[in-house]
Amino acid sequence: ETIGRFFDAACARHGARDALVVRHQGVRLSYAELKQKVDALACALMRLGLAPGERIGIWAQNRMEWTLTQFATAKAGLVLVNINPAYRRAELEYALNKVGCRALILSPAFKTSNYLEMIADLAPELAHCAPGQLVSERLPALQMVIRMGAERSPGMFGFDALLKAPTRDELQALDALGETLQFDEPINIQFTSGTTGHPKGATLSHHNILNNGFFVGEAIGLTAEDRLCIPVPLYHCFGMVMGNLGCLTHGAAMVYPAEAFEPLACLQTVAEERCTGLYGVPTMFIAMLDHPEFAGFDLSTLRTGIMAGSPCPTEVMKRVVDKMHMGQVTIAYGMTETSPVSFQSGMDDPLERRVSTVGRIQPHCEVKIVDTDGRIVPRGTPGELCTRGYSVMLGYWGDEARTAEAIDRAGWMHTGDLATVDADGYCNIVGRIKDMVIRGGENLYPREIEEFLYRHPQVLDVQVVGVPDEKYGEELCAWIIVREGEALTEEAVRAFCQGQIAHHKIPRYIRFVDSFPMTVTGKIQKFQIREQMKRELG
Ligand code: ATP
Ligand code: MG
Repeated sequence: ETIGRFFDAACARHGARDALVVRHQGVRLSYAELKQKVDALACALMRLGLAPGERIGIWAQNRMEWTLTQFATAKAGLVLVNINPAYRRAELEYALNKVGCRALILSPAFKTSNYLEMIADLAPELAHCAPGQLVSERLPALQMVIRMGAERSPGMFGFDALLKAPTRDELQALDALGETLQFDEPINIQFTSGTTGHPKGATLSHHNILNNGFFVGEAIGLTAEDRLCIPVPLYHCFGMVMGNLGCLTHGAAMVYPAEAFEPLACLQTVAEERCTGLYGVPTMFIAMLDHPEFAGFDLSTLRTGIMAGSPCPTEVMKRVVDKMHMGQVTIAYGMTETSPVSFQSGMDDPLERRVSTVGRIQPHCEVKIVDTDGRIVPRGTPGELCTRGYSVMLGYWGDEARTAEAIDRAGWMHTGDLATVDADGYCNIVGRIKDMVIRGGENLYPREIEEFLYRHPQVLDVQVVGVPDEKYGEELCAWIIVREGEALTEEAVRAFCQGQIAHHKIPRYIRFVDSFPMTVTGKIQKFQIREQMKRELG
């Protein structure tokens, strides 16, 4: 099915129920009201001359407009391009040009991000053109900019004005267009985090993300009675697919506490909106649990949720169950290229399993673990995780070579992650292949060594990478951030390792640093560390 047709059916079925609550904008829409606004916006986009298959970017934090745009573009057959609100000029330019966005919807500003100023810098022509008539030197494909809110800026359309009631003919044209759209057509481009290099634009179809949202919701038992608190970003698949589409496919309510994550707003929202589910990356749950006012909130309505995005510490999971009443919380593993989730624990799995693994493969997906020659390895042996099924993306936008590298002829997505699967099908993520170090023919997993070094009381954070070496092929290198006010020496680190881990796992190079190179989504870029070490070691 297409997202648009599914959306219409869901709105008809759940009409009077809450669909969308945006606390910081004072918005509360039932499914029927949501449909009205979405249809109005979809008609307006058609009126502006945007045709199915054309790309339209969105650059904003979590706001009502984001969600209206998500569903309106799906109904109009436009390819929504999620642009990270943390991007700055150069990254925006790269993303818009890479996929050829004809239109861009933006929020005026958020905290220190002045989106209007940045777009005006990139396209100074906006100051002198009529809305929709942009001809820009640096953004050749871009013709129109739509600014969220009621105000207008030179050369831009105003979002609120696009929500005025459409005519009956326009609505009919929208329905007619909806009938021509196909479920396997591209509807969304999401950029990967750029942890291992330049972000890649994963092209996803209705079929990819609608189904993924459905199965993610199934795993936590969502129903029309549920109210899901979504503090994770909408530009990312965690918010727009697992959150918004998870709710839509089950008639649940989407509840946004704030434009960007704030622990207090989140706790207040859960208590006042009587939320039954809550999503977050591990650090968000930690921030809520550690908040000084935590004990003052009644979170007893919570029952389930998802923790995902990075390794989820056991202690945090246990506190979420005990202190936040989320007895049915689950962990998910995925990647942008697979819509995103491929593994998720079940809400009734034993807690020990939910805490220590990323769960089992999603329904209708297949998994295999292979060695470097592509042969399936024995159970329990680490190898590359490959998945296949409805969730595998159509490809990287405009990049056939990299698509062919990632998805083989038989349809297997090569994730680039190392994993093991146990006899019951539970999966454990060991690390990324690109991060694996081969020293003297021996495979070393940096994550294992990092976890050991973390135990040193003076170590705040640590990253381990491989650097080229004439004798062994590669040698281990550790970058360490020392806790504030503390001092640490190479000798002390080595002494800490002696007798505790195998000799060849003790890093040959140890460096003390203040910070690590990071992506805008907050992931650490090991390739940058390797590059820097290569330069240093000549
Ligand atoms: P790029 O592909 O641009 O280098 P990226 O792989 O970080 O960046 P994403 O698609 O956002 O971009 O992230 C997917 C990756 O995140 C996975 O391949 C995996 O390495 C990691 N990951 C996701 N969920 C988990 C989890 N539950 N536990 C451990 N790692 C996870
Ligand atoms: Mg990746």
